[in-house]
Amino acid sequence: MQVLKFGGSSVGTTAAISKVIAIVKARVQKTPTIVVVSAMSGVTDQLILLAQTASQGNEAYKAIIQSLAEKHEDAVRALLPASQQSKTLSIVKELILEIESHCATIFNEGIFSLRMQDCLMSYGEILSSKIIAAAFEAKGVDQVWLDARAMIKTNSTYSSAGVDRALTNQTIQKYFANDANQHALYMTPGFIASNAAGHTTTLGRGGSDFTAAIYAAALSASILEIWTDVSGMMTADPRIVPHAKAIPKISYHEAMELSHFGAKIIYPPTIQPVMQAHIPIWIKNTFEPEHPGTLIEIASAKDDHAIRGISSIKDICLLSLEGAGMVAIPGFTNRLFDALAKKQISIIIITQSSSEHSISVGVSVQDTHLAKIAVDAEFEEEINTQLLEPLIIEKELSIIALVGEQMRNHPGVSGKMFTVLGANGINIRAIAQGSSEKNITAVIEAHDVHKAMNVLHEAFFETAYKQVHVYIAGVGNVGSKLIEQIKLQAANLQSTLRLKINIVGIANSKKQLINLEGINLSHSDDSINNSSNNSHSKNSSNSIPWMDQLAAASSETIHAGTIQDYVAAILNHNLPNSIFVDVTAHATVADTYAQLLSKGVSVVACNKIACSSPYAHYANLKSLAQNHHAAFLFETNVGAGLPIVSTLNDLIHSGDTIHKIEAVLSGTLNFVFNHYEGGKDGKTFAHVVKQAQEEGYTEPDPRLDLGGTDVMRKILILAREAGYPLEMEDIVNESFLPAPCFNGSVADFYIELEKQEPHFKQLYDAAAAAGCKLKFIAKFEKDANGKATAKVGLQHIQPSSDFYHLYGKDNLVLFYTNRYPEQPLVIKGAGAGADVTASGVFADIIRAARA
Ligand code: ADP
Ligand code: ASP
Ligand code: MG
Repeated sequence: MQVLKFGGSSVGTTAAISKVIAIVKARVQKTPTIVVVSAMSGVTDQLILLAQTASQGNEAYKAIIQSLAEKHEDAVRALLPASQQSKTLSIVKELILEIESHCATIFNEGIFSLRMQDCLMSYGEILSSKIIAAAFEAKGVDQVWLDARAMIKTNSTYSSAGVDRALTNQTIQKYFANDANQHALYMTPGFIASNAAGHTTTLGRGGSDFTAAIYAAALSASILEIWTDVSGMMTADPRIVPHAKAIPKISYHEAMELSHFGAKIIYPPTIQPVMQAHIPIWIKNTFEPEHPGTLIEIASAKDDHAIRGISSIKDICLLSLEGAGMVAIPGFTNRLFDALAKKQISIIIITQSSSEHSISVGVSVQDTHLAKIAVDAEFEEEINTQLLEPLIIEKELSIIALVGEQMRNHPGVSGKMFTVLGANGINIRAIAQGSSEKNITAVIEAHDVHKAMNVLHEAFFETAYKQVHVYIAGVGNVGSKLIEQIKLQAANLQSTLRLKINIVGIANSKKQLINLEGINLSHSDDSINNSSNNSHSKNSSNSIPWMDQLAAASSETIHAGTIQDYVAAILNHNLPNSIFVDVTAHATVADTYAQLLSKGVSVVACNKIACSSPYAHYANLKSLAQNHHAAFLFETNVGAGLPIVSTLNDLIHSGDTIHKIEAVLSGTLNFVFNHYEGGKDGKTFAHVVKQAQEEGYTEPDPRLDLGGTDVMRKILILAREAGYPLEMEDIVNESFLPAPCFNGSVADFYIELEKQEPHFKQLYDAAAAAGCKLKFIAKFEKDANGKATAKVGLQHIQPSSDFYHLYGKDNLVLFYTNRYPEQPLVIKGAGAGADVTASGVFADIIRAARA
């Protein structure tokens, strides 16, 4: 036996009913089938309205009956061939006449009762099931219509009757045991039942699911299928969270918790009977039958999801009892719960403050009034003697619940939940965690529910991170360190900032490695991928995978080509969130920025050439970036990883004005002058410069540093970022390097430097004689006339100066501004080195990615 239940929207139109017939027809051949149907969508609501309208003595009830009659007669005409319609049309007419007769009585007596409402509501399911039964018959499917009122026996709590499970099981089992014909298909209305007196009862709104579960459990069905209008139980109500996804597999307990906390997809009592009988529930979409939907069974899916789903209940109110005397009242909690239970008020959540001075329960808003009367009456004496305050009621609240059986094995779920809510300005009124740790619930204000559900869903389910595609140009010291840093930090960025940084291109001046899925940066994956067919990975434990790939010119992914080819490829790929990273010192690379920015590709440059090029060019790049919503960032142009440019930008953006900048901006020069002692220690000036180069503190041609050009570029960039349109020619360079040093190659330069040793010794001795140190200082200033000037040069620095105690490769920048007029804003720290520069570039990549 199998039980298939089709909900209101699955039988809401003739098109939908045709789908139901196709689904069932394909199934009945194999196993005897019970099909439980709801009323056509909207019909139950119409019948409730009908009962109310008639009982108010309002003639408008007749129009409601008319519309119900038309809806069902239309369905018959659309579903059945003309020759077979009359029998079913007369059944419909007869049922409509019964409705009319009941309504006439209600109208005349003017009395509304839940019993009468149940009686009227039952026609929704009776009509739909009769019509669908006839449609099956017309299709030649052998079927018998079962009256659920004769099968499902309940108490007399009209509108949500309690099922007598033992009697019901017996009745159902007896019927099927005696059913000699063994039909292929049993059609039956959901939702409706009857009490001992034979009066019609209903099982509560959404109760057709429960009807189906009762049949399934009584007959030990192989499966209970709930066919509805969505493709399974989802991670959240899809009407609230558009990104909600179907849950392939969920445990009975998890499904029960989700439905208890508002997931309307399944009526909460449905799960219990089938869980006891170990019958799986399969939730399927009538309108997308090929979708696998959701399987509900004993075990929770074996994955590492702490949270299976999120749900919410609207229209909650929080009832709180408080009072210093609470601890002293014996049986206090029981009395509270009993008082509510006696009025049939169901408690949705309970929270108690740790001080035991207050307890709060969340109940449905329609129960508020009754609850207030019941609780205040129960504790009348304690309230009069001021042991307790009268019941406090807070309205317009909602409950949100995170559900997952694995939650208990994942610490930090509640922390994450509250952090996410807090960060989004959502106030939490109360918190509860079930003792079984299958849910965490919070009471929040009703108007925050939509936001809360969406941010929680985003935090717990949307692995949808922002995917960023990075193209690197330059794989020297800085480029290699950068790739290494990205590799190590990638997982962290994905979990903390939800950024997935994919390096899709790595290029040196000759070759380009491109993989749009992301270049494999790690050894372990590499060796797994290659272990079967490639000895390369085995002997590569000391090698770097991407370097090997870049070096392997035979690989398909390698393109020989110029930087222009690389840029053409980037523009051709047209990937979202692309960032071009220039860690070269080449003008040809800097020349591509305009092309990239104008196509919305962000540019992160360590290369200073573009920003120190003619002002018009620099300004054009900035405006291209702005106009195309791309980032153009170059923090490492000044002071390596130190936050100099970003601090300057923050000052300017927040309305400050820069008057003066004084700085040591060359880590190289600082290193050189800190290590050169006029030859006393046997080290010539040339020797010290060589050492700086070997340690990676110089540009490839150290003359760019020593000649002052590099510092000129840096102060120029700072002046420009401060809002002054200076050109390189405006910067005065008081160079200490004798003119012959600039001739020839780098090798020639070192030879010349040795020859010039007396010159450097003299510089050193003069400073030492004055008790000073030599520092290469850059200075930008607005003069009295408001004219901006800048210069760079070697200076004697007194021990009293900020610059005196500057060691190693450190940089120091002093910003004098409106807000920092006398005591400058100071930034100090390592201003050179591949690691810090790479980290500055990395920070810019993150900034660009988040822009
Ligand atoms: P039926 O009429 O088939 O019984 P219901 O309207 O009772 O259908 O239940 C299906 C609806 O439940 C869906 O259309 C969806 O809007 C709502 N729903 C609420 N929470 C969830 C959830 N977690 N997963 C899927 N659907 C949900
Ligand atoms: N028709 C009833 C309702 O609308 C029962 C159901 O659809 O499950 O609540
Ligand atoms: Mg339903």
